[in-house]
Amino acid sequence: VLKKIAIYGKGGIGKSTTVSNMAAAYDNSTFVIGCDPKADTTRTLVGKRIPTILDTMRDNTQPELEDIVYEGYNNTLCVESGGPEPGVGCAGRGVIVAMNLLDKIGAFDNDPDLVIYDVLGDVVCGGFSVPLREDYADEVYIVTSGEYMSLYAANNIAKGIKKLNGKLGGIICNCRNVKNEVEVVTEFASLISSKIMGIIPRCELVQTSEYKASTVVETFPDSSQSKIYSELINNIMNNQEFSTPTPMGIEEFEEFFYSYV
Ligand code: ADP
Ligand code: SF4
Ligand code: MG
Repeated sequence: VLKKIAIYGKGGIGKSTTVSNMAAAYDNSTFVIGCDPKADTTRTLVGKRIPTILDTMRDNTQPELEDIVYEGYNNTLCVESGGPEPGVGCAGRGVIVAMNLLDKIGAFDNDPDLVIYDVLGDVVCGGFSVPLREDYADEVYIVTSGEYMSLYAANNIAKGIKKLNGKLGGIICNCRNVKNEVEVVTEFASLISSKIMGIIPRCELVQTSEYKASTVVETFPDSSQSKIYSELINNIMNNQEFSTPTPMGIEEFEEFFYSYV
């Protein structure tokens, strides 16, 4: 395995879109692990929703690799941890159960070149920090836009990474086209002792391909958006600079944000 990375960020900010397009753009073998109870990371790679580990384990306590690992576009292997039934149970626990099972049945034995965990951002609990711990992901990347809540979540994630002694590889700016967006995200990255890994424009091809349960990379391979995902994963694969983040305190964060609006 060349790299094991975890992608964190506020819900709805574009983690799964970014993860699936990066995996589609990376030509070597990639293992994609969706750790969000929404279980939609791999849908655009496989072309449909796949059964989740938690769902599978409800009917079958001893699942095998072929019950939970699905082949997706361009040399990807896809897994979804899944979530509890709405209102019942603990989603973080699902991630732990999923990780243990993947280890036990040797899901990593075929030695993929890249492992990507698509995690969450606004849940600050033990379960969702599992991929960040040793033996799972080595590097973390945070997806954010220039919006207040997204940066706020990114700052909280930086706090979590620092607590767990994780390595922050950089910030991915997924644009929502808000005022001064690239400037504000660039300054945010620098204030928490990190850097920008890539800037992804807002692009309607994302929706068009999502309707077809596909990635932009697969559906529109010659588009500039597709090239951007490809550059992003290349930057990440070549990245050797990591930091222990220096998250902002609440007041510092407010001061920083309001100096841009
Ligand atoms: P998350 O995994 O962080 O919850 P998603 O990847 O599911 O977020 O994205 C949320 C929505 O935003 C999706 O409907 C997706 O199509 C849209 N989206 C994400 N990135 C972009 C982009 N660069 N341009 C246009 N739409 C985007
Ligand atoms: Fe489980 Fe995390 Fe929710 Fe607590 S916050 S119930 S640990 S998912
Ligand atoms: Mg998602």
